[in-house]
Amino acid sequence: MMTTLAFVGLGAMGDPMAAHLARHARDHGHRVLVWNRTAAKADAHAQTHGTQSVPLTEIAAADVIFTCLPTSAEVDEIMTALRDRLRPGAVWVDCTSGHPDAAARQADDLNRAGVTFLDAPVSGGTAGAQAGRLTVMVGGDPDALDRVRPHLAFAGKVVHVGGTGAGFSVKAVNNALLGVTLWATGEGLAILGRAGVNLGAALDVINASSGRSNASENLIPQRVLTREFPATFALGLLAKDAGIAVDLTQSVQGSAPVLAQVADLLRGAQRVVGDAEDHTAALKLIESMNDTVLK
Ligand code: NDP
Repeated sequence: MMTTLAFVGLGAMGDPMAAHLARHARDHGHRVLVWNRTAAKADAHAQTHGTQSVPLTEIAAADVIFTCLPTSAEVDEIMTALRDRLRPGAVWVDCTSGHPDAAARQADDLNRAGVTFLDAPVSGGTAGAQAGRLTVMVGGDPDALDRVRPHLAFAGKVVHVGGTGAGFSVKAVNNALLGVTLWATGEGLAILGRAGVNLGAALDVINASSGRSNASENLIPQRVLTREFPATFALGLLAKDAGIAVDLTQSVQGSAPVLAQVADLLRGAQRVVGDAEDHTAALKLIESMNDTVLK
């Protein structure tokens, strides 16, 4: 039976994710509707991948709706526009790195329209999205996940992590950890640079030792030391994720001072360095603090 899939938000992540949906749809006789705020991107997607670029209201006809927007606030806007037109029985798969509080509200709202909400943020970056190898962390009804699982054509790994909001929670903590390792490694290298140590040699050691991380193995050598800072994941989005981890700490009355501190530092870096810069450019603030350049 033909299933209508829809994708809203053809950004750095959504565009390649929707391309994988298109390939899957071609193979299985489904169709893919796409909508993007900047309509030219949706038209280009249709041209390139054989999806159908439609007005926003037509997205409501889909059996499975995917969203991948900056924050839960933009998902709210789309949901408000579509809610009264949605098909009962549909599943809304939100791949935004959203907020667990929003997930609870959105799931309730959609439930009243007979639609199931899954929070399903992704990790793996733009390279993972292009390769169709994203990790998807899903919160919500496991039966609904089983129904949509065959359509997660952009995934390399899918993990059901708990009830509604659990996917957003795991994503926020994962990215707060990215913030911690990125920031702390930047600090370590800045003081080594001031001490006159060659940073390539220092990373050679760290990456064969217990201080290594994705930041030391990949991000810093490829993006910072090269001074390229390719803009694939915006600093403003990482700061947002770390802020969600802080909100989560509050809502469970937990104690996570290191995560809180990195959220503060990233917010400062976002302001000083720029919202839209690549997240690795946060280290430019550490460079200023230490009057050094990481190269
Ligand atoms: P981008 O900024 O590249 O894309 C954002 C998308 O949202 C665009 O399609 C944009 O439309 C659309 N949009 C923005 N504001 C609105 C609005 N008010 N109404 C409707 N549409 C809107 O972001 P990413 O693709 O990088 O990130 C998307 C989500 O995925 C975020 O939650 C992010 O944290 C997460 N993520 C990002 C990763 C990455 O490496 N980039 C990795 C993993 C998760 P338009 O084209 O008109 O601007």
